[in-house]
Amino acid sequence: MIELETLYRVQEIELEILAGHKRLKEITAALEENEVVVAAQSALDTAQGALAPLQKQSRSLELEIKTNREKAKSAETRLYSGNVKNPKELQDIQQEIESLKKRHSELEDHLLETMLEAEEAEAAVNEAQSHLDSVTAAFTAEHGQLLDEQTTLKARDTALRQNREKRLAGVEPDLLKLYNTLRPRKGNQPIALLVGSSCSVCGVEQNRMTADAARRRQEIVYCNSCERILYAR
Ligand SMILES: [Zn+2]
Repeated sequence: MIELETLYRVQEIELEILAGHKRLKEITAALEENEVVVAAQSALDTAQGALAPLQKQSRSLELEIKTNREKAKSAETRLYSGNVKNPKELQDIQQEIESLKKRHSELEDHLLETMLEAEEAEAAVNEAQSHLDSVTAAFTAEHGQLLDEQTTLKARDTALRQNREKRLAGVEPDLLKLYNTLRPRKGNQPIALLVGSSCSVCGVEQNRMTADAARRRQEIVYCNSCERILYAR
């Protein structure tokens, strides 16, 4: 009497172990994969890089406006002080005041333009920052889920291995040897079920002699097509 139930169960356990390993590999790869976050950080750096010189320029223009205004004020003070009597000198001061006022107006225009550009650049920085926050949160959430899954899979793997060892002890040695020889050639699935009169793995219907022999379980019977061991439950 060929006893295939335990070995068939071992095969199921081994397939589950292999599937778990495959998923663990995917998880490891996914945990190392944070390109989206890196790209979002780089976009934020670029946006900040565009904003910084505009802010610097604004400050420098404000300072220049202030200096310019003080110069004009001091020229006006001199003009109306009564200390300067020479008409040529008075004319020069008036011209200086005119020129400072013209410069003031140019600086104000330039400052306004720069501030508008800085406002746009700041909006881009805020947008990039919020995008970075959102992808970071998504990655962290996924990361957490993956870590949980990883822990579960590892514990499951240990349990499956123990279960496998326990069951293997009950398998007849020659049968196990045959199973191990066939395993690499049959995609880790050397045993197929006889379902009705068909092989559960390749799906091919067996001839009557094969199907009957598999049901009698007096000898090892192989699928007519894929040559797996047929187990009639
Ligand atoms: Zn088959």
